[in-house]
Amino acid sequence: MAKYDFDLFTIGAGSGGVAASRRAGAYGARVAICEERRIGGTCVLRGCVPKKLLVYASHIRNELADAAGYGWNIGETSLDWPRMIAAKDAELDRLEGIYKRMLGNSGVTVYEGRGVIVDAHTVEVEGRTFTAERILIATGGWPTLPEVPGIQHAITSNEALDLAEIPERVAVVGGGYIGVEFAGIWNNAGAKVTQLVRGETILRGFDLDVRETLAEEMRKEGVDLRCQTRVHAIEKTAEGLDLRLDRGEHIQVDQVLYATGRHPHSKNLGLERVGVQTDPHGAIIVDEWSKTNVPGIWAVGDVTTRIALTPVAIADGRAFVETEFKDNPTPVDHGAVPSAVFSQPPVGTVGITEAEAGALGTGPIDVYRAKFRPMKFVLPGRDSKTMMKLIVDRETDKVLGLHMVGPDAAEIVQGFAVAIKAGATKKQFDATVGIHPSSAEEFVTMTTPVE
Ligand code: NDP
Repeated sequence: MAKYDFDLFTIGAGSGGVAASRRAGAYGARVAICEERRIGGTCVLRGCVPKKLLVYASHIRNELADAAGYGWNIGETSLDWPRMIAAKDAELDRLEGIYKRMLGNSGVTVYEGRGVIVDAHTVEVEGRTFTAERILIATGGWPTLPEVPGIQHAITSNEALDLAEIPERVAVVGGGYIGVEFAGIWNNAGAKVTQLVRGETILRGFDLDVRETLAEEMRKEGVDLRCQTRVHAIEKTAEGLDLRLDRGEHIQVDQVLYATGRHPHSKNLGLERVGVQTDPHGAIIVDEWSKTNVPGIWAVGDVTTRIALTPVAIADGRAFVETEFKDNPTPVDHGAVPSAVFSQPPVGTVGITEAEAGALGTGPIDVYRAKFRPMKFVLPGRDSKTMMKLIVDRETDKVLGLHMVGPDAAEIVQGFAVAIKAGATKKQFDATVGIHPSSAEEFVTMTTPVE
Protein backbone atom coordinates (compact mmCIF):
# COMPACT_ATOMS: atom_id res chain seq x y z
CA MET A 1 0.00 0.00 0.00
CA ALA A 2 1.20 3.52 -0.79
CA LYS A 3 2.80 5.33 2.11
CA TYR A 4 0.84 8.54 1.43
CA ASP A 5 -2.68 9.30 0.19
CA PHE A 6 -1.22 11.33 -2.68
CA ASP A 7 2.09 11.87 -4.43
CA LEU A 8 1.36 15.60 -4.61
CA PHE A 9 -1.06 17.81 -2.72
CA THR A 10 -1.38 21.37 -4.06
CA ILE A 11 -2.87 24.16 -1.99
CA GLY A 12 -4.40 26.79 -4.27
CA ALA A 13 -5.93 26.30 -7.72
CA GLY A 14 -4.63 29.39 -9.49
CA SER A 15 -2.35 29.48 -12.52
CA GLY A 16 0.73 28.00 -10.82
CA GLY A 17 -1.07 25.34 -8.79
CA VAL A 18 -3.24 24.15 -11.64
CA ALA A 19 -0.35 24.02 -14.13
CA ALA A 20 1.79 21.95 -11.76
CA SER A 21 -1.03 19.63 -10.72
CA ARG A 22 -2.16 18.93 -14.26
CA ARG A 23 1.32 18.13 -15.45
CA ALA A 24 2.01 15.87 -12.45
CA GLY A 25 -1.31 14.12 -13.09
CA ALA A 26 -0.44 13.68 -16.74
CA TYR A 27 2.82 12.03 -15.67
CA GLY A 28 0.84 9.48 -13.68
CA ALA A 29 1.24 10.93 -10.21
CA ARG A 30 -1.65 10.73 -7.75
CA VAL A 31 -2.52 14.39 -7.31
CA ALA A 32 -4.99 16.41 -5.25
CA ILE A 33 -5.61 20.15 -5.20
CA CYS A 34 -7.67 22.25 -2.82
CA GLU A 35 -9.13 25.70 -3.33
CA GLU A 36 -11.08 27.90 -0.94
CA ARG A 37 -12.60 30.10 -3.64
CA ARG A 38 -13.29 29.34 -7.30
CA ILE A 39 -10.96 27.32 -9.49
CA GLY A 40 -8.80 29.63 -11.58
CA GLY A 41 -7.21 31.99 -9.08
CA THR A 42 -6.27 35.63 -9.47
CA CYS A 43 -5.35 35.63 -13.15
CA VAL A 44 -8.48 33.98 -14.47
CA LEU A 45 -11.03 35.37 -12.02
CA ARG A 46 -9.72 38.54 -10.36
CA GLY A 47 -6.87 39.79 -12.52
CA CYS A 48 -5.40 39.41 -15.98
CA VAL A 49 -8.39 37.97 -17.81
CA PRO A 50 -11.33 40.10 -16.56
CA LYS A 51 -9.07 43.16 -16.55
CA LYS A 52 -8.12 42.67 -20.18
CA LEU A 53 -11.75 42.19 -21.18
CA LEU A 54 -12.58 45.52 -19.55
CA VAL A 55 -9.59 47.11 -21.30
CA TYR A 56 -10.93 45.88 -24.66
CA ALA A 57 -14.42 47.10 -23.82
CA SER A 58 -13.38 50.58 -22.80
CA HIS A 59 -10.85 51.04 -25.59
CA ILE A 60 -13.55 50.67 -28.22
CA ARG A 61 -14.49 54.25 -27.36
CA ASN A 62 -11.25 55.43 -29.01
CA GLU A 63 -11.78 53.19 -32.03
CA LEU A 64 -15.26 54.65 -32.48
CA ALA A 65 -13.96 58.19 -32.12
CA ASP A 66 -11.21 57.55 -34.68
CA ALA A 67 -13.53 55.91 -37.20
CA ALA A 68 -14.75 59.29 -38.50
CA GLY A 69 -11.21 60.06 -39.70
CA TYR A 70 -11.52 57.03 -41.97
CA GLY A 71 -14.83 58.13 -43.40
CA TRP A 72 -17.16 56.18 -41.17
CA ASN A 73 -20.40 57.76 -40.08
CA ILE A 74 -21.14 56.32 -36.70
CA GLY A 75 -24.33 57.31 -34.96
CA GLU A 76 -24.78 57.73 -31.29
CA THR A 77 -22.93 55.15 -29.25
CA SER A 78 -23.07 54.14 -25.63
CA LEU A 79 -21.52 51.53 -23.41
CA ASP A 80 -24.02 49.25 -21.69
CA TRP A 81 -21.84 48.48 -18.69
CA PRO A 82 -24.10 45.89 -17.00
CA ARG A 83 -24.22 43.97 -20.30
CA MET A 84 -20.45 44.13 -20.53
CA ILE A 85 -20.06 42.86 -16.95
CA ALA A 86 -22.52 40.02 -17.63
CA ALA A 87 -20.57 39.02 -20.76
CA LYS A 88 -17.33 39.13 -18.80
CA ASP A 89 -18.80 37.00 -16.01
CA ALA A 90 -20.10 34.45 -18.50
CA GLU A 91 -16.60 34.19 -19.94
CA LEU A 92 -15.09 33.66 -16.48
CA ASP A 93 -17.64 30.91 -15.81
CA ARG A 94 -16.66 29.29 -19.09
CA LEU A 95 -12.96 29.45 -18.21
CA GLU A 96 -13.56 28.08 -14.73
CA GLY A 97 -15.40 25.17 -16.32
CA ILE A 98 -12.46 24.53 -18.64
CA TYR A 99 -10.02 24.60 -15.72
CA LYS A 100 -12.15 22.11 -13.79
CA ARG A 101 -12.44 19.82 -16.79
CA MET A 102 -8.71 19.97 -17.46
CA LEU A 103 -7.95 19.04 -13.87
CA GLY A 104 -10.41 16.14 -14.10
CA ASN A 105 -8.94 14.96 -17.39
CA SER A 106 -5.49 14.91 -15.80
CA GLY A 107 -6.82 12.74 -12.97
CA VAL A 108 -6.45 15.44 -10.32
CA THR A 109 -8.81 15.20 -7.32
CA VAL A 110 -10.27 18.60 -6.38
CA TYR A 111 -11.23 19.44 -2.79
CA GLU A 112 -13.22 22.58 -2.10
CA GLY A 113 -12.03 24.41 0.97
CA ARG A 114 -9.07 26.03 2.61
CA GLY A 115 -5.97 23.90 2.97
CA VAL A 116 -3.76 24.18 6.04
CA ILE A 117 -0.44 22.46 6.48
CA VAL A 118 -0.37 20.18 9.52
CA ASP A 119 3.10 18.77 9.03
CA ALA A 120 5.55 18.37 6.14
CA HIS A 121 3.39 15.58 4.66
CA THR A 122 -0.11 16.39 5.88
CA VAL A 123 -2.71 18.91 4.72
CA GLU A 124 -6.04 19.55 6.39
CA VAL A 125 -9.01 20.73 4.31
CA GLU A 126 -12.22 21.57 6.16
CA GLY A 127 -11.57 19.02 8.91
CA ARG A 128 -10.32 16.22 6.63
CA THR A 129 -6.65 15.33 6.61
CA PHE A 130 -4.68 14.03 3.66
CA THR A 131 -1.11 12.87 3.49
CA ALA A 132 1.17 13.51 0.53
CA GLU A 133 4.76 12.83 -0.37
CA ARG A 134 5.07 16.40 -1.62
CA ILE A 135 3.10 19.53 -0.81
CA LEU A 136 3.01 22.48 -3.21
CA ILE A 137 1.92 25.86 -1.85
CA ALA A 138 0.40 28.02 -4.59
CA THR A 139 -1.93 30.30 -2.66
CA GLY A 140 -1.11 33.50 -4.56
CA GLY A 141 -1.50 37.04 -3.28
CA TRP A 142 -4.15 39.47 -2.12
CA PRO A 143 -4.55 43.27 -2.36
CA THR A 144 -2.93 45.30 0.41
CA LEU A 145 -4.81 48.23 1.95
CA PRO A 146 -2.80 50.77 3.93
CA GLU A 147 -4.05 52.14 7.23
CA VAL A 148 -5.85 55.34 6.28
CA PRO A 149 -8.85 56.68 8.21
CA GLY A 150 -11.95 55.65 6.26
CA ILE A 151 -10.16 52.92 4.28
CA GLN A 152 -13.24 50.70 4.76
CA HIS A 153 -14.94 52.84 2.08
CA ALA A 154 -12.29 51.92 -0.51
CA ILE A 155 -12.47 49.03 -2.94
CA THR A 156 -9.65 46.86 -4.27
CA SER A 157 -9.18 45.43 -7.75
CA ASN A 158 -11.28 42.43 -6.64
CA GLU A 159 -14.42 44.57 -6.35
CA ALA A 160 -13.43 46.98 -9.13
CA LEU A 161 -13.85 44.22 -11.69
CA ASP A 162 -17.45 43.65 -10.68
CA LEU A 163 -18.92 47.15 -10.31
CA ALA A 164 -22.50 47.14 -11.50
CA GLU A 165 -22.16 50.68 -12.87
CA ILE A 166 -19.37 52.91 -14.04
CA PRO A 167 -18.73 55.37 -11.23
CA GLU A 168 -19.23 58.95 -12.38
CA ARG A 169 -16.20 60.17 -10.43
CA VAL A 170 -13.51 57.79 -9.28
CA ALA A 171 -10.18 58.10 -7.52
CA VAL A 172 -7.42 55.57 -8.10
CA VAL A 173 -4.76 55.48 -5.40
CA GLY A 174 -1.43 53.99 -6.49
CA GLY A 175 0.57 54.27 -9.68
CA GLY A 176 1.55 50.65 -10.26
CA TYR A 177 0.29 48.12 -12.82
CA ILE A 178 -3.21 47.89 -11.38
CA GLY A 179 -3.63 51.63 -10.81
CA VAL A 180 -2.77 52.67 -14.36
CA GLU A 181 -4.81 49.83 -15.85
CA PHE A 182 -7.99 50.78 -13.98
CA ALA A 183 -7.43 54.50 -14.57
CA GLY A 184 -7.45 53.70 -18.30
CA ILE A 185 -10.51 51.41 -18.12
CA TRP A 186 -12.68 53.86 -16.22
CA ASN A 187 -11.46 56.91 -18.10
CA ASN A 188 -12.35 55.38 -21.45
CA ALA A 189 -15.59 54.01 -20.04
CA GLY A 190 -16.61 57.59 -19.38
CA ALA A 191 -15.79 58.23 -15.71
CA LYS A 192 -13.96 61.27 -14.41
CA VAL A 193 -10.76 59.68 -13.11
CA THR A 194 -8.35 61.21 -10.63
CA GLN A 195 -5.23 59.13 -10.06
CA LEU A 196 -3.31 59.86 -6.89
CA VAL A 197 0.32 58.78 -6.80
CA ARG A 198 2.65 59.35 -3.88
CA GLY A 199 5.86 59.21 -5.93
CA GLU A 200 7.24 61.49 -8.63
CA THR A 201 5.32 59.68 -11.32
CA ILE A 202 3.62 56.37 -12.16
CA LEU A 203 5.19 52.91 -12.61
CA ARG A 204 8.19 53.02 -10.30
CA GLY A 205 10.83 50.57 -11.47
CA PHE A 206 10.02 51.01 -15.17
CA ASP A 207 12.27 52.94 -17.54
CA LEU A 208 11.90 56.68 -17.02
CA ASP A 209 10.98 57.30 -20.67
CA VAL A 210 8.19 54.73 -20.31
CA ARG A 211 6.94 56.37 -17.12
CA GLU A 212 7.01 59.88 -18.52
CA THR A 213 5.50 58.96 -21.87
CA LEU A 214 2.65 57.00 -20.32
CA ALA A 215 1.92 59.75 -17.79
CA GLU A 216 1.75 62.28 -20.62
CA GLU A 217 -0.47 60.08 -22.76
CA MET A 218 -2.83 59.27 -19.89
CA ARG A 219 -3.21 62.97 -19.16
CA LYS A 220 -3.96 63.61 -22.83
CA GLU A 221 -6.62 60.90 -22.64
CA GLY A 222 -8.23 62.79 -19.78
CA VAL A 223 -6.95 61.19 -16.57
CA ASP A 224 -6.33 63.77 -13.86
CA LEU A 225 -3.00 62.34 -12.72
CA ARG A 226 -1.72 63.94 -9.55
CA CYS A 227 1.74 62.92 -8.42
CA GLN A 228 3.39 63.47 -5.04
CA THR A 229 -0.08 63.39 -3.58
CA ARG A 230 -1.17 61.28 -0.63
CA VAL A 231 -4.60 60.55 0.76
CA HIS A 232 -4.89 61.36 4.48
CA ALA A 233 -8.51 60.42 5.08
CA ILE A 234 -11.61 59.17 3.34
CA GLU A 235 -14.96 60.34 4.60
CA LYS A 236 -18.42 59.23 3.52
CA THR A 237 -20.66 62.20 2.84
CA ALA A 238 -24.13 62.70 1.41
CA GLU A 239 -22.54 63.37 -2.02
CA GLY A 240 -20.21 60.37 -2.05
CA LEU A 241 -16.69 60.10 -0.68
CA ASP A 242 -14.53 63.01 0.36
CA LEU A 243 -10.78 62.43 0.09
CA ARG A 244 -8.49 64.66 2.12
CA LEU A 245 -5.21 65.09 0.25
CA ASP A 246 -1.92 66.91 0.85
CA ARG A 247 -1.81 70.70 0.97
CA GLY A 248 -5.33 70.86 2.38
CA GLU A 249 -6.86 69.75 -0.93
CA HIS A 250 -10.03 67.68 -1.12
CA ILE A 251 -11.70 65.75 -3.91
CA GLN A 252 -15.18 64.26 -4.06
CA VAL A 253 -15.70 60.94 -5.75
CA ASP A 254 -18.20 58.10 -5.94
CA GLN A 255 -15.64 55.29 -5.63
CA VAL A 256 -12.05 55.05 -4.52
CA LEU A 257 -9.86 52.17 -5.66
CA TYR A 258 -6.75 51.35 -3.69
CA ALA A 259 -4.17 49.71 -5.94
CA THR A 260 -1.33 49.97 -3.48
CA GLY A 261 0.31 46.61 -3.99
CA ARG A 262 -0.42 43.01 -3.15
CA HIS A 263 0.92 40.75 -0.44
CA PRO A 264 1.59 37.01 -0.43
CA HIS A 265 -1.32 34.94 0.78
CA SER A 266 0.72 33.09 3.39
CA LYS A 267 -1.03 33.77 6.70
CA ASN A 268 -2.81 31.03 8.68
CA LEU A 269 -1.52 28.36 6.34
CA GLY A 270 0.37 26.50 9.05
CA LEU A 271 3.74 27.74 7.80
CA GLU A 272 4.98 28.73 11.27
CA ARG A 273 3.99 25.33 12.63
CA VAL A 274 6.21 23.47 10.17
CA GLY A 275 8.89 26.19 10.04
CA VAL A 276 8.60 27.29 6.38
CA GLN A 277 10.73 30.43 6.05
CA THR A 278 9.22 33.64 4.74
CA ASP A 279 10.69 37.10 4.13
CA PRO A 280 9.53 40.15 6.13
CA HIS A 281 6.61 40.62 3.69
CA GLY A 282 5.42 37.05 4.23
CA ALA A 283 6.70 35.77 0.87
CA ILE A 284 7.85 32.16 1.00
CA ILE A 285 11.57 31.87 0.35
CA VAL A 286 12.34 29.25 -2.30
CA ASP A 287 15.48 28.03 -4.03
CA GLU A 288 15.99 27.62 -7.78
CA TRP A 289 13.93 24.40 -7.65
CA SER A 290 11.01 26.16 -5.89
CA LYS A 291 11.91 24.22 -2.71
CA THR A 292 11.23 25.79 0.66
CA ASN A 293 13.59 25.20 3.58
CA VAL A 294 11.31 22.34 4.76
CA PRO A 295 11.88 19.04 2.93
CA GLY A 296 8.65 17.88 1.30
CA ILE A 297 7.27 21.39 0.77
CA TRP A 298 7.60 23.50 -2.41
CA ALA A 299 6.01 26.82 -3.37
CA VAL A 300 5.33 28.68 -6.64
CA GLY A 301 3.67 31.88 -7.76
CA ASP A 302 2.74 35.13 -6.02
CA VAL A 303 3.06 33.58 -2.55
CA THR A 304 6.83 33.31 -3.11
CA THR A 305 9.60 35.88 -3.47
CA ARG A 306 9.51 35.47 -7.25
CA ILE A 307 8.13 37.98 -9.78
CA ALA A 308 4.33 38.18 -9.40
CA LEU A 309 3.37 37.26 -12.95
CA THR A 310 1.17 34.39 -14.13
CA PRO A 311 3.59 33.00 -16.74
CA VAL A 312 6.34 32.90 -14.11
CA ALA A 313 4.11 30.91 -11.74
CA ILE A 314 3.21 28.51 -14.54
CA ALA A 315 6.84 28.06 -15.61
CA ASP A 316 7.95 27.44 -12.02
CA GLY A 317 5.07 25.02 -11.38
CA ARG A 318 5.85 22.96 -14.48
CA ALA A 319 9.59 23.02 -13.79
CA PHE A 320 8.94 21.69 -10.27
CA VAL A 321 7.01 18.76 -11.76
CA GLU A 322 9.68 18.05 -14.38
CA THR A 323 12.28 17.98 -11.64
CA GLU A 324 10.36 15.94 -9.08
CA PHE A 325 8.13 13.66 -11.14
CA LYS A 326 10.03 13.20 -14.39
CA ASP A 327 13.60 13.01 -13.15
CA ASN A 328 14.37 15.93 -15.45
CA PRO A 329 15.96 18.66 -13.29
CA THR A 330 14.58 21.91 -14.72
CA PRO A 331 15.59 25.24 -13.20
CA VAL A 332 13.75 28.30 -14.53
CA ASP A 333 15.81 31.21 -15.78
CA HIS A 334 14.11 34.30 -14.35
CA GLY A 335 16.28 36.70 -16.34
CA ALA A 336 14.78 38.97 -19.00
CA VAL A 337 11.16 38.19 -18.15
CA PRO A 338 9.03 40.37 -20.42
CA SER A 339 5.95 42.05 -19.06
CA ALA A 340 3.20 44.35 -20.21
CA VAL A 341 0.97 46.86 -18.53
CA PHE A 342 -2.46 47.06 -20.13
CA SER A 343 -2.74 50.76 -19.64
CA GLN A 344 -4.17 52.87 -22.46
CA PRO A 345 -1.84 53.10 -24.35
CA PRO A 346 -0.18 49.88 -23.22
CA VAL A 347 3.41 49.30 -22.13
CA GLY A 348 5.71 46.42 -23.07
CA THR A 349 9.12 45.89 -21.58
CA VAL A 350 11.93 43.35 -21.39
CA GLY A 351 15.42 43.56 -19.95
CA ILE A 352 17.01 46.37 -18.03
CA THR A 353 16.06 50.03 -17.78
CA GLU A 354 18.46 52.86 -18.48
CA ALA A 355 18.74 53.60 -14.75
CA GLU A 356 19.47 49.95 -13.97
CA ALA A 357 22.29 49.93 -16.50
CA GLY A 358 24.18 52.36 -14.27
CA ALA A 359 23.18 50.73 -10.99
CA LEU A 360 24.04 47.20 -12.12
CA GLY A 361 27.54 48.32 -13.08
CA THR A 362 26.99 47.47 -16.74
CA GLY A 363 29.69 49.02 -18.94
CA PRO A 364 28.97 52.03 -21.11
CA ILE A 365 25.64 51.87 -22.91
CA ASP A 366 24.10 53.41 -25.98
CA VAL A 367 20.49 54.47 -25.82
CA TYR A 368 18.28 54.53 -28.91
CA ARG A 369 14.88 56.13 -28.75
CA ALA A 370 12.09 56.92 -31.16
CA LYS A 371 8.93 58.88 -30.50
CA PHE A 372 6.37 59.24 -33.23
CA ARG A 373 2.69 59.39 -34.02
CA PRO A 374 1.57 55.96 -35.28
CA MET A 375 0.24 56.02 -38.84
CA LYS A 376 -3.18 54.85 -37.68
CA PHE A 377 -3.69 58.09 -35.76
CA VAL A 378 -2.81 60.47 -38.57
CA LEU A 379 -6.17 60.55 -40.39
CA PRO A 380 -8.24 60.71 -37.20
CA GLY A 381 -5.91 63.45 -35.95
CA ARG A 382 -5.38 61.69 -32.64
CA ASP A 383 -2.61 63.36 -30.68
CA SER A 384 -0.96 60.24 -29.28
CA LYS A 385 2.70 59.30 -29.44
CA THR A 386 4.38 55.92 -29.38
CA MET A 387 7.75 55.64 -27.61
CA MET A 388 10.27 52.89 -28.34
CA LYS A 389 13.65 52.51 -26.73
CA LEU A 390 16.67 50.23 -26.84
CA ILE A 391 19.51 50.00 -24.35
CA VAL A 392 22.66 48.53 -25.87
CA ASP A 393 25.90 47.45 -24.23
CA ARG A 394 28.54 49.45 -26.11
CA GLU A 395 31.25 46.81 -25.67
CA THR A 396 29.38 43.59 -26.41
CA ASP A 397 26.76 45.24 -28.67
CA LYS A 398 24.08 43.18 -26.88
CA VAL A 399 20.62 44.69 -26.56
CA LEU A 400 20.09 44.71 -22.80
CA GLY A 401 16.71 46.41 -22.62
CA LEU A 402 13.76 47.08 -24.91
CA HIS A 403 10.81 49.25 -23.93
CA MET A 404 7.69 50.50 -25.62
CA VAL A 405 4.60 52.59 -24.91
CA GLY A 406 2.04 52.46 -27.67
CA PRO A 407 -0.64 50.36 -29.36
CA ASP A 408 0.10 46.63 -29.44
CA ALA A 409 3.12 46.99 -27.14
CA ALA A 410 2.46 43.63 -25.49
CA GLU A 411 2.19 41.81 -28.83
CA ILE A 412 5.32 43.46 -30.21
CA VAL A 413 7.52 43.08 -27.15
CA GLN A 414 6.67 39.39 -26.72
CA GLY A 415 8.36 38.67 -30.05
CA PHE A 416 11.38 40.83 -29.39
CA ALA A 417 11.76 39.22 -25.94
CA VAL A 418 12.94 36.04 -27.68
CA ALA A 419 15.74 38.01 -29.30
CA ILE A 420 16.75 39.62 -26.00
CA LYS A 421 16.66 36.26 -24.23
CA ALA A 422 18.85 34.82 -26.97
CA GLY A 423 21.37 37.62 -26.43
CA ALA A 424 20.82 39.38 -29.75
CA THR A 425 23.16 42.22 -30.65
CA LYS A 426 22.25 45.59 -32.09
CA LYS A 427 23.94 44.50 -35.33
CA GLN A 428 21.53 41.56 -35.53
CA PHE A 429 18.61 43.91 -34.92
CA ASP A 430 19.94 46.14 -37.73
CA ALA A 431 20.36 43.14 -40.05
CA THR A 432 16.69 42.20 -39.57
CA VAL A 433 14.44 43.54 -42.29
CA GLY A 434 11.53 45.57 -40.97
CA ILE A 435 7.86 44.95 -41.67
CA HIS A 436 6.52 48.03 -43.37
CA PRO A 437 4.43 49.92 -42.50
CA SER A 438 4.36 48.98 -38.84
CA SER A 439 5.38 50.51 -35.55
CA ALA A 440 7.41 47.42 -34.68
CA GLU A 441 9.86 48.03 -37.53
CA GLU A 442 11.19 51.00 -35.57
CA PHE A 443 13.02 48.54 -33.29
CA VAL A 444 15.14 47.35 -36.25
CA THR A 445 15.68 50.72 -37.89
CA MET A 446 17.09 52.86 -35.08
CA THR A 447 20.40 54.13 -36.42
CA THR A 448 21.73 56.84 -34.13
CA PRO A 449 22.02 56.67 -30.36
CA VAL A 450 20.38 59.56 -28.56
CA GLU A 451 22.73 59.22 -25.57
P1 NDP B 1 2.50 47.81 -7.50
O1 NDP B 1 3.44 47.37 -6.47
O2 NDP B 1 2.81 47.63 -8.94
O3 NDP B 1 2.17 49.37 -7.29
C1 NDP B 1 1.72 49.85 -6.06
C2 NDP B 1 1.50 51.34 -6.16
O4 NDP B 1 0.91 51.81 -4.95
C3 NDP B 1 2.79 52.14 -6.32
O5 NDP B 1 2.52 53.27 -7.11
C4 NDP B 1 3.12 52.53 -4.89
O6 NDP B 1 3.88 53.69 -4.79
C5 NDP B 1 1.75 52.78 -4.34
N1 NDP B 1 1.64 52.61 -2.90
C6 NDP B 1 2.08 51.60 -2.14
N2 NDP B 1 1.74 51.79 -0.84
C7 NDP B 1 1.07 52.97 -0.80
C8 NDP B 1 0.48 53.71 0.24
N3 NDP B 1 0.49 53.29 1.49
N4 NDP B 1 -0.12 54.88 -0.08
C9 NDP B 1 -0.14 55.33 -1.34
N5 NDP B 1 0.41 54.67 -2.38
C10 NDP B 1 1.01 53.49 -2.11
O7 NDP B 1 1.13 47.11 -7.10
P2 NDP B 1 -0.22 46.82 -7.89
O8 NDP B 1 -1.24 46.71 -6.81
O9 NDP B 1 -0.44 47.81 -8.99
O10 NDP B 1 0.05 45.41 -8.57
C11 NDP B 1 0.52 44.32 -7.79
C12 NDP B 1 1.29 43.33 -8.62
O11 NDP B 1 0.40 42.62 -9.46
C13 NDP B 1 2.28 43.96 -9.59
O12 NDP B 1 3.52 44.21 -9.00
C14 NDP B 1 2.38 42.92 -10.67
O13 NDP B 1 3.38 41.99 -10.35
C15 NDP B 1 1.05 42.26 -10.66
N6 NDP B 1 0.24 42.72 -11.79
C16 NDP B 1 0.69 42.53 -13.07
C17 NDP B 1 -0.05 42.98 -14.14
C18 NDP B 1 0.46 42.79 -15.53
O14 NDP B 1 1.40 42.04 -15.73
N7 NDP B 1 -0.10 43.49 -16.51
C19 NDP B 1 -1.34 43.63 -13.96
C20 NDP B 1 -1.69 43.80 -12.59
C21 NDP B 1 -0.93 43.36 -11.57
P3 NDP B 1 5.50 53.65 -4.83
O15 NDP B 1 5.89 53.39 -6.24
O16 NDP B 1 5.88 54.99 -4.33
O17 NDP B 1 5.91 52.54 -3.90
